[in-house]
Amino acid sequence: MGPVLILGGTAEARALAAALHADGIAVVSSLAGRVANPRLPVGEVRVGGFGGVDGLARWLTEHDVAAMVDATHPFARRISANAAQAAPAAGVPLLRLERPGWTPRPGDRWTWVDDLDAAARAIPGLGTRVLLTTGRQGLPAFAAVDAWFLIRCVDPPDPPLPARHELLLDRGPYTSAGEGALIDRHVIDLVVTKDSGGALTVAKLDAARERGLPVIVVRRPPRPGVPTVTSADAAAAWARAQAG
Ligand code: NAP
Repeated sequence: MGPVLILGGTAEARALAAALHADGIAVVSSLAGRVANPRLPVGEVRVGGFGGVDGLARWLTEHDVAAMVDATHPFARRISANAAQAAPAAGVPLLRLERPGWTPRPGDRWTWVDDLDAAARAIPGLGTRVLLTTGRQGLPAFAAVDAWFLIRCVDPPDPPLPARHELLLDRGPYTSAGEGALIDRHVIDLVVTKDSGGALTVAKLDAARERGLPVIVVRRPPRPGVPTVTSADAAAAWARAQAG
Protein backbone atom coordinates (compact mmCIF):
# COMPACT_ATOMS: atom_id res chain seq x y z
CA MET A 1 0.00 0.00 0.00
CA GLY A 2 1.21 3.49 -0.84
CA PRO A 3 1.57 6.63 1.26
CA VAL A 4 -0.86 8.83 3.14
CA LEU A 5 -1.35 12.01 1.11
CA ILE A 6 -1.66 15.20 3.14
CA LEU A 7 -3.00 18.25 1.34
CA GLY A 8 -1.11 20.87 3.27
CA GLY A 9 -0.06 24.49 3.56
CA THR A 10 -1.01 24.79 7.23
CA ALA A 11 0.62 24.27 10.64
CA GLU A 12 -1.80 21.39 11.30
CA ALA A 13 -0.68 19.64 8.13
CA ARG A 14 2.95 19.94 9.21
CA ALA A 15 2.11 18.56 12.68
CA LEU A 16 0.30 15.62 11.09
CA ALA A 17 3.19 14.87 8.73
CA ALA A 18 5.60 14.92 11.68
CA ALA A 19 3.42 12.57 13.74
CA LEU A 20 3.01 10.01 10.94
CA HIS A 21 6.66 10.26 9.90
CA ALA A 22 7.69 9.55 13.51
CA ASP A 23 5.54 6.38 13.37
CA GLY A 24 7.33 5.23 10.22
CA ILE A 25 4.21 5.71 8.05
CA ALA A 26 4.97 6.81 4.49
CA VAL A 27 3.64 10.32 3.96
CA VAL A 28 3.59 12.70 1.02
CA SER A 29 2.70 16.32 1.81
CA SER A 30 1.34 18.38 -1.06
CA LEU A 31 1.78 22.15 -1.31
CA ALA A 32 0.19 24.44 -3.87
CA GLY A 33 3.42 26.34 -4.52
CA ARG A 34 1.94 29.79 -3.83
CA VAL A 35 4.53 30.84 -1.25
CA ALA A 36 8.06 31.48 -2.48
CA ASN A 37 9.77 30.08 0.61
CA PRO A 38 7.25 27.83 2.39
CA ARG A 39 7.67 26.22 5.78
CA LEU A 40 8.28 22.60 4.80
CA PRO A 41 6.90 19.56 6.61
CA VAL A 42 9.13 16.61 7.44
CA GLY A 43 9.00 13.72 5.00
CA GLU A 44 8.37 13.73 1.27
CA VAL A 45 6.92 16.88 -0.27
CA ARG A 46 5.43 17.51 -3.70
CA VAL A 47 4.64 21.01 -4.97
CA GLY A 48 2.05 22.28 -7.46
CA GLY A 49 -1.52 21.63 -8.55
CA PHE A 50 -2.67 18.17 -9.60
CA GLY A 51 -4.76 19.37 -12.54
CA GLY A 52 -8.28 19.48 -11.09
CA VAL A 53 -10.41 16.59 -9.86
CA ASP A 54 -9.28 14.21 -12.61
CA GLY A 55 -5.60 14.98 -12.05
CA LEU A 56 -5.91 14.43 -8.31
CA ALA A 57 -7.86 11.18 -8.78
CA ARG A 58 -5.18 9.98 -11.21
CA TRP A 59 -2.41 10.87 -8.74
CA LEU A 60 -4.18 8.95 -5.96
CA THR A 61 -4.47 5.85 -8.14
CA GLU A 62 -0.99 6.02 -9.64
CA HIS A 63 0.62 6.37 -6.20
CA ASP A 64 -1.64 3.73 -4.60
CA VAL A 65 -2.51 6.24 -1.87
CA ALA A 66 -3.73 4.54 1.31
CA ALA A 67 -5.66 7.55 2.61
CA MET A 68 -5.89 11.29 2.06
CA VAL A 69 -6.13 14.03 4.67
CA ASP A 70 -7.28 17.42 3.46
CA ALA A 71 -5.48 19.68 5.93
CA THR A 72 -5.57 22.79 3.72
CA HIS A 73 -6.49 26.24 5.00
CA PRO A 74 -10.16 26.86 5.91
CA PHE A 75 -10.38 29.36 3.03
CA ALA A 76 -8.84 27.09 0.38
CA ARG A 77 -12.16 26.14 -1.26
CA ARG A 78 -11.19 24.66 -4.60
CA ILE A 79 -8.67 22.06 -3.47
CA SER A 80 -11.07 20.83 -0.77
CA ALA A 81 -13.90 20.52 -3.28
CA ASN A 82 -11.55 18.65 -5.62
CA ALA A 83 -10.48 16.29 -2.83
CA ALA A 84 -14.11 15.55 -1.91
CA GLN A 85 -14.77 14.46 -5.51
CA ALA A 86 -11.48 12.76 -6.32
CA ALA A 87 -11.35 10.56 -3.19
CA PRO A 88 -14.51 8.54 -3.90
CA ALA A 89 -13.64 8.42 -7.61
CA ALA A 90 -10.28 6.78 -6.75
CA GLY A 91 -11.69 4.71 -3.86
CA VAL A 92 -9.42 6.46 -1.32
CA PRO A 93 -10.68 7.28 2.22
CA LEU A 94 -10.72 11.03 2.92
CA LEU A 95 -10.59 12.95 6.19
CA ARG A 96 -10.77 16.71 6.64
CA LEU A 97 -8.47 18.26 9.28
CA GLU A 98 -9.68 21.76 10.07
CA ARG A 99 -8.77 23.90 13.05
CA PRO A 100 -11.71 25.49 14.87
CA GLY A 101 -12.63 29.05 13.97
CA TRP A 102 -12.23 31.93 16.41
CA THR A 103 -15.03 32.85 18.80
CA PRO A 104 -15.53 36.37 20.14
CA ARG A 105 -14.75 37.13 23.78
CA PRO A 106 -16.14 39.85 26.05
CA GLY A 107 -14.96 43.22 24.81
CA ASP A 108 -14.62 42.14 21.18
CA ARG A 109 -16.24 44.43 18.59
CA TRP A 110 -16.50 42.07 15.61
CA THR A 111 -18.52 42.52 12.44
CA TRP A 112 -19.01 39.23 10.60
CA VAL A 113 -19.19 39.31 6.80
CA ASP A 114 -19.56 36.59 4.16
CA ASP A 115 -16.65 37.37 1.89
CA LEU A 116 -13.89 39.85 1.01
CA ASP A 117 -16.22 42.05 -1.08
CA ALA A 118 -18.52 42.42 1.92
CA ALA A 119 -15.51 43.19 4.11
CA ALA A 120 -14.48 45.95 1.71
CA ARG A 121 -18.02 47.41 1.75
CA ALA A 122 -18.08 47.41 5.57
CA ILE A 123 -14.83 49.35 6.02
CA PRO A 124 -16.03 52.95 5.43
CA GLY A 125 -18.42 52.87 8.41
CA LEU A 126 -15.88 51.35 10.76
CA GLY A 127 -12.41 52.81 10.25
CA THR A 128 -9.96 54.82 8.19
CA ARG A 129 -6.60 53.18 9.00
CA VAL A 130 -6.89 49.46 8.40
CA LEU A 131 -4.66 46.53 9.31
CA LEU A 132 -5.52 44.13 6.46
CA THR A 133 -4.47 40.53 7.10
CA THR A 134 -6.63 38.56 4.67
CA GLY A 135 -3.68 37.34 2.61
CA ARG A 136 -2.18 38.10 -0.76
CA GLN A 137 -5.00 36.65 -2.84
CA GLY A 138 -8.23 38.64 -2.99
CA LEU A 139 -6.67 42.05 -2.33
CA PRO A 140 -8.29 43.56 -5.47
CA ALA A 141 -11.56 43.53 -3.48
CA PHE A 142 -10.11 46.42 -1.44
CA ALA A 143 -8.58 48.38 -4.32
CA ALA A 144 -11.34 51.01 -4.53
CA VAL A 145 -11.84 51.50 -0.78
CA ASP A 146 -11.10 55.04 0.43
CA ALA A 147 -8.98 54.25 3.50
CA TRP A 148 -5.31 53.82 4.38
CA PHE A 149 -4.18 50.17 4.59
CA LEU A 150 -1.34 48.39 6.26
CA ILE A 151 -1.34 45.25 4.12
CA ARG A 152 0.42 42.34 5.80
CA CYS A 153 1.11 39.18 3.82
CA VAL A 154 3.83 36.58 3.31
CA ASP A 155 4.80 37.34 -0.30
CA PRO A 156 4.40 40.55 -2.36
CA PRO A 157 0.85 40.87 -3.76
CA ASP A 158 -0.09 41.66 -7.35
CA PRO A 159 -1.99 44.83 -8.25
CA PRO A 160 -4.58 46.26 -8.12
CA LEU A 161 -4.08 47.39 -4.53
CA PRO A 162 -5.68 50.25 -2.58
CA ALA A 163 -4.30 53.64 -3.61
CA ARG A 164 -3.11 54.45 -0.10
CA HIS A 165 -1.24 51.59 1.53
CA GLU A 166 1.96 50.33 3.06
CA LEU A 167 3.10 46.77 2.54
CA LEU A 168 4.44 44.65 5.39
CA LEU A 169 5.86 41.28 4.35
CA ASP A 170 5.78 39.05 7.40
CA ARG A 171 4.72 35.64 8.60
CA GLY A 172 3.40 34.56 12.02
CA PRO A 173 3.41 33.50 14.72
CA TYR A 174 2.72 36.88 16.27
CA THR A 175 2.50 38.00 19.90
CA SER A 176 -0.14 40.34 21.30
CA ALA A 177 2.60 42.72 22.49
CA GLY A 178 4.01 42.81 18.94
CA GLU A 179 0.59 43.22 17.36
CA GLY A 180 -0.28 45.98 19.83
CA ALA A 181 2.94 47.84 19.03
CA LEU A 182 2.21 47.52 15.28
CA ILE A 183 -1.34 48.83 15.74
CA ASP A 184 -0.15 51.76 17.84
CA ARG A 185 2.77 52.65 15.55
CA HIS A 186 0.51 52.88 12.52
CA VAL A 187 -2.45 54.40 14.38
CA ILE A 188 -4.64 51.53 13.18
CA ASP A 189 -8.35 51.96 13.97
CA LEU A 190 -9.75 48.82 12.25
CA VAL A 191 -8.53 45.24 11.73
CA VAL A 192 -9.76 43.06 8.84
CA THR A 193 -9.17 39.31 9.02
CA LYS A 194 -10.43 35.98 7.78
CA ASP A 195 -11.73 33.56 10.44
CA SER A 196 -8.60 31.49 9.96
CA GLY A 197 -8.59 30.22 13.54
CA GLY A 198 -5.61 28.80 15.39
CA ALA A 199 -3.06 30.20 17.81
CA LEU A 200 -0.41 31.47 15.39
CA THR A 201 -2.28 34.57 14.21
CA VAL A 202 -4.84 35.18 16.98
CA ALA A 203 -2.76 37.88 18.69
CA LYS A 204 -4.12 40.68 16.48
CA LEU A 205 -7.58 39.96 17.90
CA ASP A 206 -6.27 40.20 21.47
CA ALA A 207 -4.50 43.47 20.66
CA ALA A 208 -7.65 44.88 19.01
CA ARG A 209 -9.79 43.91 22.03
CA GLU A 210 -7.34 45.54 24.45
CA ARG A 211 -7.64 48.78 22.46
CA GLY A 212 -11.41 48.59 21.90
CA LEU A 213 -10.89 48.48 18.11
CA PRO A 214 -13.47 47.09 15.68
CA VAL A 215 -12.60 43.98 13.68
CA ILE A 216 -14.18 42.79 10.43
CA VAL A 217 -14.13 38.98 10.39
CA VAL A 218 -14.73 37.12 7.12
CA ARG A 219 -16.78 33.94 7.69
CA ARG A 220 -15.42 30.64 6.45
CA PRO A 221 -16.80 29.45 3.13
CA PRO A 222 -19.16 26.45 3.07
CA ARG A 223 -17.37 23.11 2.92
CA PRO A 224 -18.05 19.75 1.32
CA GLY A 225 -19.60 17.18 3.66
CA VAL A 226 -16.48 15.22 4.57
CA PRO A 227 -15.76 13.58 7.96
CA THR A 228 -13.80 16.20 9.88
CA VAL A 229 -11.50 16.36 12.90
CA THR A 230 -10.01 19.47 14.47
CA SER A 231 -6.62 18.27 15.71
CA ALA A 232 -3.54 16.77 14.12
CA ASP A 233 -3.57 14.05 16.82
CA ALA A 234 -7.07 12.92 15.82
CA ALA A 235 -6.11 12.94 12.15
CA ALA A 236 -2.95 10.94 12.92
CA ALA A 237 -5.01 8.28 14.74
CA TRP A 238 -7.35 8.01 11.74
CA ALA A 239 -4.48 7.84 9.23
CA ARG A 240 -2.66 5.18 11.29
CA ALA A 241 -5.80 3.04 11.22
CA GLN A 242 -6.16 3.50 7.44
CA ALA A 243 -2.49 2.74 6.75
CA GLY A 244 -2.63 -0.04 9.30
P1 NAP B 1 -7.57 26.85 -3.67
O1 NAP B 1 -8.10 28.11 -4.22
O2 NAP B 1 -8.47 25.98 -2.90
O3 NAP B 1 -6.91 25.96 -4.80
C1 NAP B 1 -6.64 26.43 -6.12
C2 NAP B 1 -5.83 25.38 -6.83
O4 NAP B 1 -4.51 25.32 -6.28
C3 NAP B 1 -6.39 23.98 -6.66
O5 NAP B 1 -7.41 23.72 -7.57
C4 NAP B 1 -5.14 23.14 -6.85
O6 NAP B 1 -4.81 23.07 -8.23
C5 NAP B 1 -4.07 23.98 -6.21
N1 NAP B 1 -3.83 23.63 -4.80
C6 NAP B 1 -4.33 24.25 -3.68
N2 NAP B 1 -3.85 23.71 -2.58
C7 NAP B 1 -3.03 22.69 -2.98
C8 NAP B 1 -2.22 21.75 -2.30
N3 NAP B 1 -2.14 21.73 -0.94
N4 NAP B 1 -1.51 20.86 -3.05
C9 NAP B 1 -1.57 20.88 -4.40
N5 NAP B 1 -2.31 21.75 -5.10
C10 NAP B 1 -3.02 22.65 -4.40
O7 NAP B 1 -6.26 27.14 -2.75
P2 NAP B 1 -5.71 28.51 -2.14
O8 NAP B 1 -6.75 29.16 -1.31
O9 NAP B 1 -5.04 29.26 -3.24
O10 NAP B 1 -4.59 27.93 -1.16
C11 NAP B 1 -3.41 27.36 -1.69
C12 NAP B 1 -2.59 26.76 -0.58
O11 NAP B 1 -2.28 27.77 0.40
C13 NAP B 1 -3.28 25.63 0.17
O12 NAP B 1 -2.34 24.60 0.34
C14 NAP B 1 -3.70 26.26 1.50
O13 NAP B 1 -3.66 25.31 2.55
C15 NAP B 1 -2.66 27.35 1.68
N6 NAP B 1 -3.17 28.54 2.38
C16 NAP B 1 -4.28 29.19 1.91
C17 NAP B 1 -4.75 30.29 2.59
C18 NAP B 1 -6.00 31.03 2.15
O14 NAP B 1 -6.39 32.01 2.82
N7 NAP B 1 -6.66 30.62 1.07
C19 NAP B 1 -4.08 30.74 3.74
C20 NAP B 1 -2.94 30.06 4.18
C21 NAP B 1 -2.50 28.96 3.50
P3 NAP B 1 -5.24 21.82 -9.15
O15 NAP B 1 -6.70 21.96 -9.37
O16 NAP B 1 -4.40 21.98 -10.36
O17 NAP B 1 -4.92 20.56 -8.36
